[in-house]
Amino acid sequence: MKVLNEKSISLCLLLSAISFQLFAQAPMINAGDTRQVTKNVYVIPDKRINLVPNIGIIIGENSIMVVDTGMGPKNAKLVLEEVRKISDKPIDYLAITHFHPEHGMGAQSFPDETRIIVPLAQKAELNAKGQSYIGFFKGMSPEIADLLSDIELQQPDIAFENKMEIDLGGQSVELYHFSTAHTQGDMFVYLPDQKLLFGGDIIIERFFPIMADSDSSAVGWIDTLKQLKALEPKIIVPGHGDVGTVDLIDQMTIYLNAVKVQVSSQKKNGATLEQTYASLIPQFSRSYSHWENPEWIKNAIERFYNEL
Ligand SMILES: [Zn+2]
Repeated sequence: MKVLNEKSISLCLLLSAISFQLFAQAPMINAGDTRQVTKNVYVIPDKRINLVPNIGIIIGENSIMVVDTGMGPKNAKLVLEEVRKISDKPIDYLAITHFHPEHGMGAQSFPDETRIIVPLAQKAELNAKGQSYIGFFKGMSPEIADLLSDIELQQPDIAFENKMEIDLGGQSVELYHFSTAHTQGDMFVYLPDQKLLFGGDIIIERFFPIMADSDSSAVGWIDTLKQLKALEPKIIVPGHGDVGTVDLIDQMTIYLNAVKVQVSSQKKNGATLEQTYASLIPQFSRSYSHWENPEWIKNAIERFYNEL
């Protein structure tokens, strides 16, 4: 029996409140539009469709790593078709940036030989929350319910604590987990020789950061961005939005620090959470009118309010 705790219920209410605007379109990956980013790295671009992530494809001399699957087996099958248009090398690794359904819940479509890699914290979070997330997401639209109709949660083949390295043959890949931020188990994929970083949903381009439930950490998010910047990436593939430079880290950091400073001063002046929403949501909607999904400003305020 599934027990909904308070956190799940608030997530449920939140998602149903915003789902109409955000999820009107079926979240299918953009098959046929795979872009080459560097000599051996490709991205299937999200085209700014909500719940469609950027999918990464890294081709080594011996094997391939895919980063994220799209939502459900149907999307993952399209991903595999895109990979096969580029290379017939074995897809030895699937790296999942976090447990949210559009990022990892197509894993079951990958070949048996593909090893799924995640941080230990993500494995625990998937097992604790994966089923309820499937339920919430199914409630967003009939199209999403269809995409998630036959999900079997896949256990990772490799789970690491904070860092591990994989060699694809002439291409070293570093995998990192820092603290809790977007989720408890965020993973980052970094190619040190190319200074190319897959930022998962910690780095999203011209979208407000998503703190989907009370396990997200706004303070941890700022800290994680600092650790990512220390890797000195030059090319960043964000979880959502256009491929960019380290500027994507800076923009997200500037926004979160601005929210942090404002929330902290509201709290010091004795404002309630509701009063803080009332004064800050319009302010950040205005100053970030070029970013999408302002519905998520509220959650960032709430996280800082509770964490500071
Ligand atoms: Zn996410």
